[in-house]
Amino acid sequence: MSDDAAQLSRVLAWVTAFESDLASRPVACVNDPHPPPEDLPESGIGVAASIDRFEAEVAPHLSASPGPKYWGFVTGGVTPAALAADWLTSAVDQNVALPGDSIASAVEARALDWLLQLFSLPDAFSGVLTSGATSANLLGSLCARQYAGLRQSIDVARQGLHGVRTAVFSATPHASMVKGLGFAGFGRDNITTIRCRAGSEAMDIADLRLAMQRSANPGKIVIASAGTVTGTDYDDFDAVADLCAAHGAWLHVDAAFGLFAVLDPEKKPWLRGVERADSLTADCHKWLNVPYDSGVFFTRHEEILLDVCGVSAPYLTVSSDTPAFMNRGIENSRRFRALPIWLSLLAYGREGVREWVQDNCRQAEAFAAWINAAGAYELLTPCRLNVVFFRPTDADQATVARCLNDINSSGEVFMSPGLAKGRAGIRAAFSNWRTRTSDVEQICGLLDGLAPRYAG
Ligand SMILES: *Cc1c(COP(=O)(O)O)cnc(C)c1O
Repeated sequence: MSDDAAQLSRVLAWVTAFESDLASRPVACVNDPHPPPEDLPESGIGVAASIDRFEAEVAPHLSASPGPKYWGFVTGGVTPAALAADWLTSAVDQNVALPGDSIASAVEARALDWLLQLFSLPDAFSGVLTSGATSANLLGSLCARQYAGLRQSIDVARQGLHGVRTAVFSATPHASMVKGLGFAGFGRDNITTIRCRAGSEAMDIADLRLAMQRSANPGKIVIASAGTVTGTDYDDFDAVADLCAAHGAWLHVDAAFGLFAVLDPEKKPWLRGVERADSLTADCHKWLNVPYDSGVFFTRHEEILLDVCGVSAPYLTVSSDTPAFMNRGIENSRRFRALPIWLSLLAYGREGVREWVQDNCRQAEAFAAWINAAGAYELLTPCRLNVVFFRPTDADQATVARCLNDINSSGEVFMSPGLAKGRAGIRAAFSNWRTRTSDVEQICGLLDGLAPRYAG
C-alpha cells in the first residue's frame, strides 16, 4: 500500500469508530475549547503526523452532531450513501461551473429534477444547488429585487437600485431571510411586519391584504414560510399567492425544512399552493441527511435568475443543453454537491426519505406527549411537525437557560434555545435518520431526573 493509501485507510478506520461511537460519545462539546496559540509551521510535519494531531487535539472536542440525539437547531445527519458520495465529491474534485468537460453539471441538473419530484413541484421550476437555505434565501431576495425593478422599468442587475421603490412584507421571517433582505439593500429594519394568526406564526391574511393595499410602492415582495423555525407553522400559500397576483408581487417561500412535510400524506395539505411561489428555498443538509453544506433554490423565473447571476466573459461561454450553473448562483467555481443528493435519492428513494420524515415526526410527537404529561415541564407551542418547544413549568427566562445548560452539559443530548411570542423556551428538533424511539425514552428519563432542580 502506498503511503497515501495507508493514510486514507487510517481515516476510514477513524470514521468507522466515530460512527459507531456516535450514540455513546458526548453529544455536545460545551466546554468551548480553545487551542493554544501556535505559529504557522515553516515546514510541514507531514500527513501522518498531522492526522495524529487531529486525533489528539481536534477529535476529542467534536460534537456528535450526525448522531441520533443532536436535537439542536434543525440538524440532519449523514447516511452511508451520502457519506460515500461526499467522499467521492472531494476525491474527484469537479468544478461545477460550466458543462463541457465533465458530467458533473448534468448530474446537478438531474439532482434538481429529482428534488422537484421529491417535493411534488412542477417542472416550471428550475434552480441551483446552494450552500444552504441562507444563500438560497439571498438568491430569493435578489431575484425578487430584479423583478420589482423590471416592473418599474429598471434593470437592477445592470443599472443599479437607484429609483426602485419596493416594499417587503413578512410575518415571521427566519433570521437568515432578514439577513438576505439586508444584503439585497431592502434594509433589515425596513420590512413591513404582518400580524400573525392567533396562536400561530403564520400570516394573518387580512392584515397582509390591508398592508399591501396601503403600500404605495410599485414593487412588492412577500416572504412566506413553510415551517417556521419554532412553531413549524405554514402560511396559507393559496391566499398569499392570490394577493401577490393581484398586486404583481413576488412571492418567496422559505421552506428550508418544512417542504419535506409534503412526503407525509397527512401533512401534505399544509403545502397547498406552495407551487405558486415565484421562488422557493429548501435545505438538503436538514431532512435529506446529506452532509453540510447543501441547500437548493428554485424559481419559476429562470430568466430573472440568469439576469441576476449571469457572468459574461469570453472564456466562459459554452453551448450545451446542460445549464451553466455559474450563471444561476452566487459562486462561479462550485463543489460537486449534487453527488450526495443524487446518490442518496438513488439509494433510498422517495420511500426512504418519507420514512425518516414520518419517524422523526412520531418521535417529536412522543416527546411532546411526555412533556405534556410530565407536570414538571410544559409545551409552549403544540407539536405539529418535528419540533418540540417547551420549558420547566412556569419557569422564568433564567431558569429556562439553566435548564438548557443542564440538558446540554449532560452529554446525552443537545437542544437549542428558542423564542416564540416573547416566551423563552427550549427547542428539540428531530431531523436525523438515526434517531429511534429509545433515544426519546432515554431523554425523557434525563429530564425526569433534572426536574426537581426547577421546582418552585
Ligand atoms: C435552517 C433554516 C434556515 C437557514 O438555513 P442554513 O442552511 O443554516 O443556511 C433558513 N430558514 C429556515 C426556515 C430554516 O429552518
